[in-house]
Amino acid sequence: MIKIDHLSTSYSTISGPVHVINDVDFEIYDNEIFGIAGESGCGKTTLLKALYDIIEFPMVVDSGKLILSGEKYGKTFSYETGQIRKTWWNNISYVPQAAQSVLNPIVPLKNQFLDSIPKEDKRYKTKEQTLKRVADYLEELSLSPDLLNAYPFQLSGGMRQRVIIALATFMSPNVVLADEPTTALDVVVQRGILMMLMRLQKQLKNTMVIVSHDMGVHYQVTDRMGIMYSGSLVELGKTEDIFEKPIHPYTKMLVGALPRVGDKSPKTGIPGRPPALTNPPAGCRFAPRCQRATEECRKSVPKLQEVEPGRFAACHLINKNGC
Ligand code: SF4
Repeated sequence: MIKIDHLSTSYSTISGPVHVINDVDFEIYDNEIFGIAGESGCGKTTLLKALYDIIEFPMVVDSGKLILSGEKYGKTFSYETGQIRKTWWNNISYVPQAAQSVLNPIVPLKNQFLDSIPKEDKRYKTKEQTLKRVADYLEELSLSPDLLNAYPFQLSGGMRQRVIIALATFMSPNVVLADEPTTALDVVVQRGILMMLMRLQKQLKNTMVIVSHDMGVHYQVTDRMGIMYSGSLVELGKTEDIFEKPIHPYTKMLVGALPRVGDKSPKTGIPGRPPALTNPPAGCRFAPRCQRATEECRKSVPKLQEVEPGRFAACHLINKNGC
């Protein structure tokens, strides 16, 4: 469905390029919920923007590309970086970070739905037919059709988020990208949003990519996930495997810091901070925080390698004394 082919991107600054994504290479499959996790500033959102083809100055693709391919209504399609935006809403849609602020507060929601439908979509002949279908769709999602006459400023944050997700999925896109979809919502509303995303994915049988710094979100929702650190993918695999048997030292720390029912042991955060992308350390970028770092780690960058079928990690300890 989505092939990320040795992608490297940077931001142009007056002091020179800042490399944000470094040679990221993996695939996201059809009919799965894929999670991208990692601390703030690790490149998750930049990667998601690249997936959605929002590559605008000062962001630059240094090398590699993305390929979005699949089948819809019996027709196959394939788009590369630079072309993916041609199929926005139709084959791929995006729920941005702080999506609640994306809706124009003084435009009724019905107009915002009408504006989101590409002109070339000929399924509904008239505006009335389109709005009838939108109203039916809202009901399918357990939302009131009366929302169409409301203005965004009249809705709660959680309701605005649900409306954005309805907007992003109305055209039944093959891929939905969601950037921190539950941030700034209380835990009850968060759960409702996650349930809505899971239900939609089951209904559409499409691909969802969820970026979140919250490992609990990934545990509840995703089928597979990738862990990013300082612009690189350091671990990739099935979510349950990553939580049960993390391989990379960074993933081990992330998972070990999570509270578990019945576990009364004290939890500690990960010491130190991610390196500044303007001046990253040589070798493995996790080395300054890794208790198992060796001389080799400080000199050479570990490559992502397959540890077992479908399971990848980037660490020099793999195949030595085990990660
Ligand atoms: Fe730690 Fe070395 Fe593995 Fe990096 S390569 S995570 S520093 S052991």
